[in-house]
Amino acid sequence: MRVRIAVLVAGLGLASLAQAAELREVRLWAGPDSTRVVFDLSAPVEHRLYPLSKPERIVIDLNGIARPSGVSLPAESKGLVRALRSGERPDGLRVVLDVTEAVKPKSFILQPSGQYGYRLVVDLEGQAKAEQPPPVFTAENKPVVVAIDAGHGGEDPGARGRNGLLEKDVALQMARKLARMVNAERDMRAVLIRDGDYYVGLRGRIEKARKAQADLFVSIHANSYKDRAVRGTAVYVLSRNGASSEQARWLANHENAADLIGGVDIPDKDDTLAAVLIDIAQSSAREASFDVGGRLLKALGAVNALQRRDVQQAAFVVLKAPDIPSVLIETAFISNEREERLLGDPASQDRLVRSMLDGIKGYFSSYRPMQQVAYGEGADTGRHAAP
Ligand SMILES: [Zn+2]
Repeated sequence: MRVRIAVLVAGLGLASLAQAAELREVRLWAGPDSTRVVFDLSAPVEHRLYPLSKPERIVIDLNGIARPSGVSLPAESKGLVRALRSGERPDGLRVVLDVTEAVKPKSFILQPSGQYGYRLVVDLEGQAKAEQPPPVFTAENKPVVVAIDAGHGGEDPGARGRNGLLEKDVALQMARKLARMVNAERDMRAVLIRDGDYYVGLRGRIEKARKAQADLFVSIHANSYKDRAVRGTAVYVLSRNGASSEQARWLANHENAADLIGGVDIPDKDDTLAAVLIDIAQSSAREASFDVGGRLLKALGAVNALQRRDVQQAAFVVLKAPDIPSVLIETAFISNEREERLLGDPASQDRLVRSMLDGIKGYFSSYRPMQQVAYGEGADTGRHAAP
């Protein structure tokens, strides 16, 4: 096996590298496709990372760093990591990850943000698992698919309440509850964008929803503000500016653009046609987003005070699927003590989620999903015509 050695330098100047850095904590996060190891550091460090086989393992050398006696490595196996070991080296610390299979490692340094300081992140990607083929639907039997996105996750906790409640946790709890309720409905099916404490990239979230042929994308969050008196529920859809910049992105890739309109080939260089088609998809998705957003506000307003009476607009990346009506719900302010209690209370969560379901059902009872029509014809061969 070819051994590839990656040498990465934080690039923050030699002065800071010269200071001895300290390892403060090591965390392990397992997602369905990858496993993430995070080293909490007092300062950026130079590191070297390489895989070895027989048995499969990843060696991480951290230069100029000592492990203080108080820091212990995660003891439990998680995802692709079976065990972590460490040993002193003359010029630093060596950490060895025993892995369950040959993995592709990637690493980068994160700058301090929020509660975290410098972090070295090592992402391990396993062999592509035999991907389950997406279910094939015809226009007649396709259920309404609702993609439910629990905001944040893993190393990204989102906002934190004064009593320690984390946005990523309440978002996942409510997402799972909503998924159960959606799946209990006839002709409706939920897809959880994340179903565990791990991070999914924002574009990856949209991608997952599109693969699942989602008819609606609902992202669940909790809000936070420095003024702890601020409270209430708000619902967001993609702003016009956000939509235009996204159109340019899609135009830059003709294959994407063709995929967007159900496999119709757009002749190369015919940007005008592509722009028109993308614009049509985006406009109808945005109109539908406002419709479902309004219904969600009305339903949620019966459970909690509203921060804003109207559907709000913002350029949130997760709302940028050009062909899926998408809404982001700021369920309540986790920074407000009363609403932190509400968010952490299972019975209140049930009431919030039940009202989300009411809004969603109201929307689907009057709005025929566009996708259903677009996917209908070519459903037996997927979205692209078979050769
Ligand atoms: Zn959030």
